[in-house]
Amino acid sequence: MRTVNKLLTAGIVLGLGFGTGLRANRRPQEPPNPEPVQTPERKPDPSRSVQPAVEDRAITHAPTESRETWNVSAYCPCVICCEKWSGDGQTANGHRIKPGDRFIAAPKGIPFGTWITVPGYGRAQVLDRGGAIKNKRLDLYFDTHKAALQWGRQHLNIKIER
Ligand SMILES: [Zn+2]
Repeated sequence: MRTVNKLLTAGIVLGLGFGTGLRANRRPQEPPNPEPVQTPERKPDPSRSVQPAVEDRAITHAPTESRETWNVSAYCPCVICCEKWSGDGQTANGHRIKPGDRFIAAPKGIPFGTWITVPGYGRAQVLDRGGAIKNKRLDLYFDTHKAALQWGRQHLNIKIER
């Protein structure tokens, strides 16, 4: 019996303690009685969660696609363009070059496999590197030296899909 009483009183004391503590905290902000009923209704999770989700998408999508002006040159597998690397038949990441291939040499900051859209060249993956390809420079792969020369060097707004 005693133990039960002790537990009951302890429970009552705790209950009172919590009750008064909560009331004391809530009083300055809101009326005490209708509040417990209203708070669940005031938190409609659907409306709250939908809006931030849309905002988050807008924010996270913005940096993933960056459009900047880059210095875009061109190369082919010839000795002039690739020197000692010419004739090995593969790119810096081991991609076996096939006729008609289109890919891009980009600075190390852009991982292999990254898709880049270059106006006049199209959308191609970064598969190669180059000693002079640093900062905001790209080198576009062409099958022939003539085609690379025709491209020359252009300053273009490219799109990197990060
Ligand atoms: Zn060449």
